[in-house]
Amino acid sequence: MSRPEPVHLLNDLRELKLPAFAEHWSRVADEAQRNRGSHADYLADLAHLEVNGRRERRIARRIKEARFPILKTLDAFDFAAQPEFDKDAILELATGDFVDDRANAVLLGGVGTGKTHLATALGMACCQQGRRVRFLTAAELTNALVEAKAADRLSRKLEHFARFELVILDELGYVPFDRVGADLLFSFVTRVYERRSLLVTTNLPFGRWSEVFHDVTAAAAVIDRIVHHATVLQTGGDSYRLKDAKRRGGRRQEVTSG
Ligand code: ADP
Ligand code: MG
Repeated sequence: MSRPEPVHLLNDLRELKLPAFAEHWSRVADEAQRNRGSHADYLADLAHLEVNGRRERRIARRIKEARFPILKTLDAFDFAAQPEFDKDAILELATGDFVDDRANAVLLGGVGTGKTHLATALGMACCQQGRRVRFLTAAELTNALVEAKAADRLSRKLEHFARFELVILDELGYVPFDRVGADLLFSFVTRVYERRSLLVTTNLPFGRWSEVFHDVTAAAAVIDRIVHHATVLQTGGDSYRLKDAKRRGGRRQEVTSG
């Protein structure tokens, strides 16, 4: 049924920033009339639509702002492929409580063992909870800080990153930093220490971090701050892609031989 629009209604709803009211008032009014709902029910239904819409828009904003390279979820992670892996610890991280506690997490393992997948999925879970997350590689962060320093904007840049409740630093250890980069990364870690959460993925056991920091003392200081309140998880040594390809290759062989 199309209803006459009360004067000012849409303008007022727009001014109040209530897009779901504006979109659904007429349809929900029809439903209320059919179901003999009360005015209170009508108002409650519209308010509920508005709140849900707002929550979804906020989550979408959070996910966009996080700049994940690709969207990955925990549902798509095959825990059975890595039986030695501590699934409960991941599910605990996915509650986001560690972010409330300003604690950190480190995912440590070889190439292709699911570190980036898990880090993204955990970041997505935090976004779903309405938290502010930023995903970037350790090299991207360092480059951004080096550029900011050159432009005399370092403190503003550090301030920018410290606005996120969770910063995911992917691929620490893949590319070594020069001394300036290492110092800036150290400044960053010191800046967020006990104020924000870090989720670091790395292929390097802690004993080898000095290789990327060029300096044993700096490496030890960074590790100390990150690991002080951290969940450290090993993702294993074998590449999932390799295992998956072998598994599928094996199945194909069975088919051809049968
Ligand atoms: P890493 O960051 O450790 O090098 P990735 O997270 O990039 O590894 O994983 C490589 C690819 O394999 C990705 O496409 C990822 O989604 C997939 N992958 C890895 N481990 C698993 C798993 N246990 N279940 C499902 N997909 C996985
Ligand atoms: Mg990766």
